Order: sequence, then structure tokens, then C-alpha cells
Amino acid sequence: MVCGWNRCILRVDLSEKTVQSIPLSEELLEKYLGGMGLADKIIWDYILEKDIRAGFDPLSPDNIFVIAMGPLTGLSTQGGRGIYQYISPVTGHLGGGSGGGFVHAMLKQAGYDALVITGKADQPVYLWIDDDSVSIKDASELWGLGAHQTVSTLKKQHGEVCSVVIGPAGENLVRHATAMIDGFKSAGGKCGTGAVLGSKNLKAIVVRGKKGVNVADPKAFLENDADFRNAIKENSAWPRFALWLAYFHTTPFKPRLAEHIYDYAVRLEACWNCHMACCGYHEQSRGKYPTRGTGPEIANQESFSALGVNDLEALNYYSDLLNDYGIDWKEGPGDIGIVMQLYKDGVLSAKDTDGLELDSGDGKIIEEMIHWMAKRERIGNLVAEGKMNIARLFPEARKYDNTVRGTTGYGKDDPRTDRRNIGPAVMCHFTPYRGACLETWGWQSIGLADFSWEFPGKEGLRSGRGYTREEAAEIVKEVVGADDHAMFSKGEPKGWCKLNVRIGNWVVANESLILCRRIACIVDNNITRAGISARMLSTATGKEFTTESIERIGERIFNLQRMIDARLGITRTQDKFPEYFYQPLGDGMGGLTEEDEKVIHEEMDYYYSLRGWDLETGQPTKEKAEELGLAIEWTALQKDGPYKDWEGPPLAGVSRGQRAAS
Ligand code: SF4
Repeated sequence: MVCGWNRCILRVDLSEKTVQSIPLSEELLEKYLGGMGLADKIIWDYILEKDIRAGFDPLSPDNIFVIAMGPLTGLSTQGGRGIYQYISPVTGHLGGGSGGGFVHAMLKQAGYDALVITGKADQPVYLWIDDDSVSIKDASELWGLGAHQTVSTLKKQHGEVCSVVIGPAGENLVRHATAMIDGFKSAGGKCGTGAVLGSKNLKAIVVRGKKGVNVADPKAFLENDADFRNAIKENSAWPRFALWLAYFHTTPFKPRLAEHIYDYAVRLEACWNCHMACCGYHEQSRGKYPTRGTGPEIANQESFSALGVNDLEALNYYSDLLNDYGIDWKEGPGDIGIVMQLYKDGVLSAKDTDGLELDSGDGKIIEEMIHWMAKRERIGNLVAEGKMNIARLFPEARKYDNTVRGTTGYGKDDPRTDRRNIGPAVMCHFTPYRGACLETWGWQSIGLADFSWEFPGKEGLRSGRGYTREEAAEIVKEVVGADDHAMFSKGEPKGWCKLNVRIGNWVVANESLILCRRIACIVDNNITRAGISARMLSTATGKEFTTESIERIGERIFNLQRMIDARLGITRTQDKFPEYFYQPLGDGMGGLTEEDEKVIHEEMDYYYSLRGWDLETGQPTKEKAEELGLAIEWTALQKDGPYKDWEGPPLAGVSRGQRAAS
């Protein structure tokens, strides 16, 4: 009996109109687990076969799109998440993200460990997966519809099904278009998931899975499952509500939110079988901004407050508009912001914006810009290219582009706010495969940081806390050694490197199992109490896994990601802060200096040496690759080199000369 995994990939070629079930070997699954590891192995083999390298156009039919599930997906333990991986149209290197909801559990229960899509349909289509019955169906009636209407139309057609859909932004190849999952429970990543699907003329993936998933030892699995749930209940670091509310403590939205939250917050939503239920849902029936949807969340409150939005109802309204168009909450507003800045600086004028005065402070401007971006109309055609690419077209914008390799980190990681931030900031910005990213590294560091919250609830004051500095220091001591005990107070970068190597490996391991990172960091604390995930994996699959073997697999995947990015032109040269961080921040906070630069370089040298990477290229050495069972991949990487340096994706349809011409 096959347990934990299905040992099967669903492979769809939209150009050839073919659908195939391809068996997976047990050996491969044991080596890469599933989820992110499986997706990246599939992508590695594919880019080798197609000789894809730096300069590749991710919006061409040759891009590969993978949704992968893990051995724990579809089971009773929080099994709703899936991993999305592809070459990113925003950045030109490996991109993707993870999404929640129910659809991934359904894909797993339909019998697949991964869905792999290549080619391009000659007209709009959607994919209908009903267990073994898979068909490519006409979507001309759906094309042009917002995500809301797309989901309701598909439900009328197929009944209660799960789905991944794109809105008009994906159809129009807006680079930061994302995919909406299960009627807005979640989105599929900030690297252009929706644009890749749009480039393939694929409007939706609709799924019904009825087969279930076998586990090898049901009794033992359920015992571990109970431990897992208890760990969620007992841990106060991230109780329900905390994720949703925590960040408001540092934003202009906090007072309004505290006072009025129960005027419009109607429920908390959860992914498949998740006891955490971390996603809030709002309804605003009165006032200027009637709307309903998920959030608010860290991503949209930070990105919209940077645009000067400090009205909570407006925040929800704009975010729901982005959802319906299918645009990422974090990156979309940032793209609008950089164009507004160019306008303020006089680089763009009212001539370029069809008379829209981007510096007028009128809230309606933001709404108009969202419409234009999604439709690639007028100045929106430029906005749709994304921050980094706008800065490639307009060097004047470089000082505002806060991306590293094309993606944006979070304000709390800004190294200028406190020089002690340099250690964690370098790690968060440089080391994740997709560029700057709190999500692939930072949740765990937040779990370790000094943090507490309290909030008025219907039944009284709710409160919770993360680790205190003392507790965090104890964990760090256990993970990286006594010498680094004081790193929180002294900002000692080497301690962060040691911590990051282990956490980085665990993050990709969790994304391969798949355990939601929001839960993994509390249940197992990733490192010091990682026993539960190993037990769940062993009892689900019937194979013996230990915490050490899972961490080792995580390290293998982390290195494979670096090798994929190496083929796409990423070397140590691109692991750097953009010009943005060298500008003064105001309030006496100066930009990064030559002195800081020295610290950054020393930190990176140390990090590369801990990783077993070449100090000059930033790529895994032969010895490291052999140690991790990646010798064949390493040899192929060397044989096909040298590679052109990464510059970002090719830009078509917009140029500086054309300004915003559609
Ligand atoms: S913690 Fe939140 S995002 Fe993660 S699986 Fe649970 S409900 Fe989904």
C-alpha cells in the first residue's frame, strides 16, 4: 500500500493538449520529501533538459509551473498547504510561494503529489481535475472575469469544488499578479504566480479529490497528531488572532482597529484541518468602503501604510480590490508607490498619467492606479512591470527600489533603523531563494524575538506573548552554542549566520513536508523540539525519519535551490542591498556606510563558509554537493557554465521611451 505519498505526478502540456499521470520513485520522494523539495527537483531536471538559463523569458510557453503537495498534505494534521514554484516573471530567477485553503488537500486526495504544467493553450482554458478524470476545458466565458465571479461561475458549473483562479491582472501579465485560492482563503505567492498562469492562457485549476490518503500506522499517527494539536494549544507564542493583529501595534491602524474590530471582523478562517485558524475575515456593509474579504494582514497593512493609507476601511477595500484582480497585497501597492515617487520627483508628469495628479493626496488615486495596473492601461502599464523592473527602466527610481533580486523584505528588517539589525537583515534579504523575504526565513526569527500583545475581545482581554529575550537567548544558545548567547543585545552577526543556516534548512524542510510555517515555528520551534514532525512523517509514510535526517534533506533542497538560481545567473554579486538602503532614512537614521559594508561582507563570508559555499561565487562547492547527494547536479551545473549574470527578466511591451504606452 502507498502511504503518505501518492507516488504520482499529474503532468499537463497545454500546447500539446496532453495529460499524463507519471509515477514517482520512492527513492526520489525519500530524498526530497515532497512539496518544495519535489517541485524544485522537477524544475531542476526541466531547466537542464530545456537548457534554460539567465535571460530566459518566464512569460514564454517554456516556463514550467508546479504545485506540489507534501507527505503530510491532505491528512488530519493541518494538511491544507501547497507549494508553487516556477521561474518568476518578476525576478527572472526561481520564484514561488506557498498557499493555504483546501485545494491542495483535494489535489492530494485526487491522487497526486504534484501538478506540473508546461506549454501554452491556444485559447483560454481551465483544468478540471476530478480524481483520475482530468480535462482541459474552454474558459472563454471566464476570461475577463474578476476572481470572485470566476469562482462563483465555476461552482455553478461543478458544484462544491476547490480552485486556484486568476483575475484580470494575471490575464494581462501583470508581473505581480497572483492566484487566488479557494475563494480568497489564500493566495499563491508574490513572485508572479498569476502572470505565469495567464501566460499559459490558464484561467483556473478546479479540483475535486475523493480518494483520501493512506497512512502507514494510523494509530501512532493519530497519537502524534494529538501531540501536535496540544502543542498548538499550549504555546502562547502565536495564539489565534496574534498573527492577524500583532503587527498593528506598529502601524497607524492600531487605534482604529482596537476600537472597532468587532464592528466588522466576523470570523476567523482556517485552512484544511488547521486548529490555528489564523486568517481574519471582515465585512464592512456601511460607510464609504463597503466590502468583505480576508485580512487585514501584515502584508497589506505595511504596503498600504507606506502609500499613506491610514484608514482601516480603505485598507480593506483596496485589498479586496487587489484580490478580485488577483494582485499580490505586498508587492502591488509597492509598485504603485514607486511610480508615485517618480511623479513627485518630476520624472513623470501629468502628461504620462493622463492628467491624474499622483501627488494630490486624494485616496481615489490609489483606487484608480489599481484599476489601471490590473488592466495595464495608461500609466498602469508601467506599474505592472513591478518595482525592480521600473527601476531598470528609470534609473531615477533606483533609490526607491527596496527589493533584493526583485522581491521586497519587511520594514522591520530595515538595517538602517538600528545597526544591530544588520545581522538578521542580511540573512532575511540575501539568503532566501526568491530574494528578500520575511516569509522564507523571518517567521521563525519573529518567534524568537521579544514580543507580546493584548487585545480587547468580546469575552474580555486576550493576551499572549512570544519568547522573552531571555528565553530566546536560551534557544539560540542551544542551537548555535554558548558563545553566541549575547547576540540579541550585541547584534553579533555571526550568531545570526549560524541560526540562519539551521533555520533556513528547516524552513525548506517544512515547506516540503508540508507544515505551515506559521505553525511549524511554534510546534517544533523548528529545531529544538523538532521531534513531532519526524514522528508524524514516519508514521504517515512507514519510513524511518529522524529530526537529523529531515534537517539534512532541508539542507539538500536549500542547496539545490541555489544551484537553480546559479543557472539563472545568481552569484554572490547579486547578494547585496540595493541603493535604497544607502539613502538616509530620516529622523537621524543614516544610510548604510562603508563601515557597514565591511560588516556585511564579513557576515556573508562567514555565512558562505558555514554553508560550504564558494566565497567568490556563492555557490555550493563540489565537496558540499557530494556530501548532500547532489554530485550529478553539481557536475551538470559546471559543465553547462559559465552563465551570464542575472539582470532580471526580459522586459517587453514597455520601455522608458514609451513611458506608459500600452
Ligand atoms: S496557521 Fe493559518 S495559514 Fe497556516 S495552515 Fe493554519 S489557517 Fe492556514
